[in-house]
Amino acid sequence: MDYLIIFILGTIIGSFLNVCIYRIPKSQSIVYPPSHCANCKINLKPYDLIPVLSYTLLKGRCRYCREKISVRYSIVEFLTGILYVSIYVKYGVTLDAIKYIIMVSILIVIGMIDLETTNVYFKTTLTGSILAIIFLALHAYMGLPVINYIYGGVIGGGTLSLITIITKGGMGGGDAEICFICGLFLGLKLTLLMLFLSFVIGSVVGVALIALSKKTRKDYVPFGPFIVLASIITILWGQGIITWYLL
Ligand SMILES: [Zn+2]
Repeated sequence: MDYLIIFILGTIIGSFLNVCIYRIPKSQSIVYPPSHCANCKINLKPYDLIPVLSYTLLKGRCRYCREKISVRYSIVEFLTGILYVSIYVKYGVTLDAIKYIIMVSILIVIGMIDLETTNVYFKTTLTGSILAIIFLALHAYMGLPVINYIYGGVIGGGTLSLITIITKGGMGGGDAEICFICGLFLGLKLTLLMLFLSFVIGSVVGVALIALSKKTRKDYVPFGPFIVLASIITILWGQGIITWYLL
């Protein structure tokens, strides 16, 4: 039962994340105007906005003008629900669970925008950094060590900055900002794993895209989505991977 409640909560937050993903690159406000159809501009009623369900019942079309709605919205909602439940299963009702739920929410927005526009918006990374720092302050207030997380941020952001400089912009500065946030949230040990995983996944996907002739060597492939994917893997299975590797 609690799984279902957390899943539904995740899909509702996912629906808000969709608004952010759609509006931030257009420099629109994420709170006003209310959700409306991109085609006919009619404001959507609450029953049009039930995550996943409305889309399914309306067979993927706007109720008013029958324009096709991208399935991406439902995928993001569903994914957010699944991630929230997975984090709850792994971390229970803890500060870490809340921290990681907030972290993946911001990462979904950054990753999806990067995937679609190949841009990382400072608005989003600034929000992520502020949230991470709030959690560090909370850690400090509770008497928990914070230095490990600061190292994580510095190493995460620093490594990517260094690569950006060496490759002369082959990798964007936005990637360093994403890794900085992830580092602050994850702490040093998990940050190292996250960096390693993002390069492995990035290389594998990059080579596969070239092999399938979807991209050539010269095409730009955004790296942000790989950092996001690596971070999610690290949150859910990182401790296990580290223990398994060290044994
Ligand atoms: Zn419409």
